[in-house]
Amino acid sequence: CGIVGVLGNHEAAPILVEALKRLEYRGYDSAGIATVNNGVLDRRRAVGKLVNLSDLLVHDPLQGKSGIGHTRWATHGAPSVTNAHPHQAGPVAVVHNGIIENFRDLREELTANGVSFVTETDTETVALITQAYMNDGLSPVDAARKTLSRLDGAFALAFLFQGEEDLIVAARKGSPLAIGHGDGEMFVGSDAIALAPMTNRITYLEEGDSAVLTRTSLEIRDANGALANRDMREIRIDQ
Ligand code: GLU
Repeated sequence: CGIVGVLGNHEAAPILVEALKRLEYRGYDSAGIATVNNGVLDRRRAVGKLVNLSDLLVHDPLQGKSGIGHTRWATHGAPSVTNAHPHQAGPVAVVHNGIIENFRDLREELTANGVSFVTETDTETVALITQAYMNDGLSPVDAARKTLSRLDGAFALAFLFQGEEDLIVAARKGSPLAIGHGDGEMFVGSDAIALAPMTNRITYLEEGDSAVLTRTSLEIRDANGALANRDMREIRIDQ
Protein backbone atom coordinates (compact mmCIF):
# COMPACT_ATOMS: atom_id res chain seq x y z
CA CYS A 1 0.00 0.00 0.00
CA GLY A 2 1.21 3.50 -0.69
CA ILE A 3 0.51 7.20 -0.95
CA VAL A 4 1.64 9.74 -3.50
CA GLY A 5 0.85 13.39 -4.13
CA VAL A 6 1.90 15.97 -6.68
CA LEU A 7 1.66 19.73 -7.04
CA GLY A 8 3.19 19.90 -10.47
CA ASN A 9 3.42 21.76 -13.73
CA HIS A 10 2.33 18.82 -15.90
CA GLU A 11 -0.74 16.62 -16.01
CA ALA A 12 -0.79 14.83 -12.67
CA ALA A 13 -2.59 11.59 -13.54
CA PRO A 14 0.26 9.84 -15.42
CA ILE A 15 2.78 11.03 -12.82
CA LEU A 16 0.64 9.69 -9.99
CA VAL A 17 0.13 6.31 -11.67
CA GLU A 18 3.86 5.99 -12.40
CA ALA A 19 4.71 6.85 -8.80
CA LEU A 20 2.17 4.30 -7.55
CA LYS A 21 3.79 1.66 -9.80
CA ARG A 22 7.01 2.27 -7.92
CA LEU A 23 5.17 1.37 -4.70
CA GLU A 24 3.69 -1.85 -6.10
CA TYR A 25 6.26 -3.88 -4.18
CA ARG A 26 4.33 -3.08 -1.01
CA GLY A 27 1.28 -5.02 -2.23
CA TYR A 28 -2.25 -3.71 -2.79
CA ASP A 29 -5.77 -4.74 -3.80
CA SER A 30 -7.07 -1.55 -5.40
CA ALA A 31 -5.92 1.89 -6.44
CA GLY A 32 -7.16 5.38 -7.13
CA ILE A 33 -6.26 8.99 -7.78
CA ALA A 34 -7.90 12.39 -7.27
CA THR A 35 -7.04 15.71 -8.92
CA VAL A 36 -8.18 19.31 -8.76
CA ASN A 37 -8.81 20.81 -12.18
CA ASN A 38 -10.22 24.32 -12.62
CA GLY A 39 -11.03 24.12 -8.95
CA VAL A 40 -13.04 20.92 -9.29
CA LEU A 41 -12.07 17.92 -7.18
CA ASP A 42 -12.67 14.57 -8.88
CA ARG A 43 -11.39 11.01 -8.62
CA ARG A 44 -11.06 7.63 -10.38
CA ARG A 45 -10.69 4.29 -8.62
CA ALA A 46 -10.33 0.65 -9.68
CA VAL A 47 -10.04 -2.73 -8.01
CA GLY A 48 -7.04 -4.92 -8.82
CA LYS A 49 -3.83 -4.03 -10.58
CA LEU A 50 -2.79 -0.51 -11.50
CA VAL A 51 -3.35 -1.38 -15.14
CA ASN A 52 -7.07 -1.40 -14.37
CA LEU A 53 -6.80 2.17 -13.10
CA SER A 54 -4.73 3.13 -16.17
CA ASP A 55 -7.33 1.58 -18.48
CA LEU A 56 -10.10 3.46 -16.69
CA LEU A 57 -8.17 6.70 -17.09
CA VAL A 58 -7.87 6.10 -20.85
CA HIS A 59 -11.66 5.91 -21.18
CA ASP A 60 -12.45 8.44 -18.47
CA PRO A 61 -9.48 10.80 -18.12
CA LEU A 62 -8.79 12.95 -15.10
CA GLN A 63 -7.14 16.28 -15.82
CA GLY A 64 -5.35 18.64 -13.48
CA LYS A 65 -1.81 19.34 -12.33
CA SER A 66 -2.46 18.72 -8.63
CA GLY A 67 -3.39 15.32 -7.28
CA ILE A 68 -3.08 12.49 -4.80
CA GLY A 69 -2.94 8.74 -5.37
CA HIS A 70 -3.23 5.54 -3.37
CA THR A 71 -2.73 1.83 -3.48
CA ARG A 72 -4.91 0.13 -0.89
CA TRP A 73 -4.32 -2.90 1.27
CA ALA A 74 -7.77 -3.25 2.81
CA THR A 75 -8.02 -3.41 6.59
CA HIS A 76 -11.61 -2.20 7.08
CA GLY A 77 -14.09 -2.95 4.31
CA ALA A 78 -13.66 -5.40 1.44
CA PRO A 79 -11.64 -4.45 -1.65
CA SER A 80 -14.18 -2.65 -3.85
CA VAL A 81 -14.42 0.53 -5.89
CA THR A 82 -16.56 2.14 -3.18
CA ASN A 83 -14.03 1.33 -0.47
CA ALA A 84 -11.03 2.32 -2.60
CA HIS A 85 -9.24 5.60 -1.89
CA PRO A 86 -9.24 8.54 -2.39
CA HIS A 87 -12.26 9.03 -0.15
CA GLN A 88 -14.09 12.22 -0.94
CA ALA A 89 -16.52 14.15 1.24
CA GLY A 90 -17.66 17.31 -0.53
CA PRO A 91 -14.64 19.62 -0.80
CA VAL A 92 -11.98 17.23 0.49
CA ALA A 93 -10.34 14.02 -0.74
CA VAL A 94 -8.16 11.85 1.47
CA VAL A 95 -5.69 9.00 0.92
CA HIS A 96 -4.63 6.97 3.91
CA ASN A 97 -2.35 4.09 4.78
CA GLY A 98 -2.69 2.38 8.12
CA ILE A 99 -5.54 2.22 10.58
CA ILE A 100 -7.57 4.89 12.40
CA GLU A 101 -8.02 3.03 15.69
CA ASN A 102 -10.80 5.26 17.04
CA PHE A 103 -12.85 5.41 13.86
CA ARG A 104 -15.89 3.75 15.44
CA ASP A 105 -16.17 6.50 18.07
CA LEU A 106 -15.70 9.17 15.41
CA ARG A 107 -18.25 7.46 13.21
CA GLU A 108 -20.80 7.44 16.02
CA GLU A 109 -20.18 11.12 16.66
CA LEU A 110 -20.69 11.97 12.98
CA THR A 111 -23.77 9.75 12.71
CA ALA A 112 -25.27 11.52 15.74
CA ASN A 113 -24.77 14.77 13.82
CA GLY A 114 -26.72 13.42 10.85
CA VAL A 115 -23.71 12.56 8.68
CA SER A 116 -24.11 9.39 6.60
CA PHE A 117 -21.43 7.00 5.36
CA VAL A 118 -21.13 5.29 2.01
CA THR A 119 -18.14 3.02 2.72
CA GLU A 120 -17.06 0.51 5.35
CA THR A 121 -13.60 2.02 5.72
CA ASP A 122 -12.00 3.73 8.68
CA THR A 123 -10.66 6.31 6.22
CA GLU A 124 -14.02 7.77 5.21
CA THR A 125 -14.34 9.14 8.75
CA VAL A 126 -11.27 11.30 8.14
CA ALA A 127 -12.81 12.87 5.04
CA LEU A 128 -16.17 13.39 6.74
CA ILE A 129 -14.71 15.04 9.85
CA THR A 130 -12.63 17.38 7.71
CA GLN A 131 -15.71 18.28 5.69
CA ALA A 132 -17.62 18.97 8.92
CA TYR A 133 -14.88 21.33 10.14
CA MET A 134 -14.86 23.09 6.77
CA ASN A 135 -18.64 23.44 7.02
CA ASP A 136 -18.03 25.09 10.40
CA GLY A 137 -15.96 27.69 8.57
CA LEU A 138 -12.42 26.42 9.11
CA SER A 139 -9.91 26.83 6.28
CA PRO A 140 -8.78 23.61 4.56
CA VAL A 141 -5.47 23.62 6.46
CA ASP A 142 -7.07 24.30 9.84
CA ALA A 143 -9.77 21.71 9.18
CA ALA A 144 -7.17 19.08 8.28
CA ARG A 145 -5.03 19.92 11.30
CA LYS A 146 -8.00 19.77 13.65
CA THR A 147 -8.99 16.45 12.12
CA LEU A 148 -5.47 15.09 12.64
CA SER A 149 -5.67 15.99 16.33
CA ARG A 150 -8.71 13.71 16.62
CA LEU A 151 -7.10 10.58 15.14
CA ASP A 152 -5.60 7.67 17.04
CA GLY A 153 -3.65 4.91 15.35
CA ALA A 154 -0.80 4.44 12.95
CA PHE A 155 -1.19 6.15 9.61
CA ALA A 156 0.06 8.28 6.76
CA LEU A 157 -2.44 10.70 5.22
CA ALA A 158 -2.67 13.19 2.39
CA PHE A 159 -5.50 15.67 1.82
CA LEU A 160 -6.49 17.48 -1.38
CA PHE A 161 -9.14 20.21 -1.53
CA GLN A 162 -11.74 21.52 -3.94
CA GLY A 163 -10.79 24.99 -5.22
CA GLU A 164 -7.18 24.60 -4.00
CA GLU A 165 -4.78 23.77 -6.82
CA ASP A 166 -1.68 24.65 -4.83
CA LEU A 167 -2.26 22.81 -1.58
CA ILE A 168 -1.73 19.34 -0.12
CA VAL A 169 -1.76 18.62 3.60
CA ALA A 170 0.13 15.47 4.65
CA ALA A 171 0.79 13.80 7.98
CA ARG A 172 2.59 10.80 9.38
CA LYS A 173 2.14 8.87 12.56
CA GLY A 174 3.59 5.40 12.43
CA SER A 175 3.91 5.21 8.63
CA PRO A 176 6.77 6.84 6.75
CA LEU A 177 6.24 9.80 4.43
CA ALA A 178 8.72 11.64 2.24
CA ILE A 179 8.36 15.10 0.71
CA GLY A 180 10.06 15.69 -2.65
CA HIS A 181 11.24 19.13 -3.74
CA GLY A 182 11.09 19.90 -7.47
CA ASP A 183 11.70 23.15 -9.32
CA GLY A 184 8.43 24.94 -8.68
CA GLU A 185 6.88 21.57 -7.93
CA MET A 186 6.33 19.65 -4.68
CA PHE A 187 5.69 15.96 -4.16
CA VAL A 188 4.83 13.56 -1.37
CA GLY A 189 5.19 9.79 -1.25
CA SER A 190 5.37 6.81 1.04
CA ASP A 191 9.04 6.56 0.15
CA ALA A 192 11.66 8.37 -1.87
CA ILE A 193 11.72 5.60 -4.50
CA ALA A 194 8.21 6.59 -5.58
CA LEU A 195 9.43 10.13 -6.17
CA ALA A 196 12.72 9.23 -7.86
CA PRO A 197 11.59 10.08 -11.43
CA MET A 198 10.63 13.59 -10.25
CA THR A 199 13.30 14.54 -7.73
CA ASN A 200 16.07 13.30 -5.45
CA ARG A 201 15.72 16.21 -3.03
CA ILE A 202 13.87 14.72 -0.10
CA THR A 203 12.65 15.83 3.32
CA TYR A 204 11.52 12.96 5.55
CA LEU A 205 8.69 13.73 7.93
CA GLU A 206 9.33 12.64 11.49
CA GLU A 207 6.93 10.83 13.76
CA GLY A 208 3.83 12.95 14.46
CA ASP A 209 4.70 15.62 11.85
CA SER A 210 2.14 17.31 9.65
CA ALA A 211 3.07 19.25 6.53
CA VAL A 212 1.48 21.91 4.36
CA LEU A 213 2.76 21.73 0.80
CA THR A 214 2.51 24.25 -2.01
CA ARG A 215 4.56 24.25 -5.23
CA THR A 216 7.09 26.61 -3.66
CA SER A 217 6.82 26.06 0.09
CA LEU A 218 6.83 23.39 2.72
CA GLU A 219 5.74 24.08 6.29
CA ILE A 220 6.20 21.27 8.79
CA ARG A 221 4.83 21.17 12.32
CA ASP A 222 5.70 18.62 14.95
CA ALA A 223 3.28 16.59 17.05
CA ASN A 224 2.83 19.57 19.39
CA GLY A 225 1.94 21.94 16.55
CA ALA A 226 5.26 23.82 16.75
CA LEU A 227 7.04 24.77 13.53
CA ALA A 228 9.75 22.20 12.85
CA ASN A 229 12.93 22.27 10.80
CA ARG A 230 13.53 19.08 8.87
CA ASP A 231 16.58 18.75 6.66
CA MET A 232 16.37 18.38 2.92
CA ARG A 233 18.78 15.76 1.64
CA GLU A 234 19.92 14.88 -1.82
CA ILE A 235 19.58 11.16 -1.92
CA ARG A 236 20.93 8.65 -4.39
CA ILE A 237 18.56 6.08 -5.75
CA ASP A 238 19.51 3.54 -8.37
CA GLN A 239 16.44 3.57 -10.54
N1 GLU B 1 -7.40 1.24 6.65
C1 GLU B 1 -7.55 1.78 5.33
C2 GLU B 1 -8.51 0.94 4.52
O1 GLU B 1 -8.75 -0.18 4.80
C3 GLU B 1 -6.21 1.94 4.61
C4 GLU B 1 -5.55 0.64 4.27
C5 GLU B 1 -4.18 0.84 3.60
O2 GLU B 1 -3.21 1.03 4.34
O3 GLU B 1 -4.10 0.81 2.37
O4 GLU B 1 -9.04 1.40 3.55
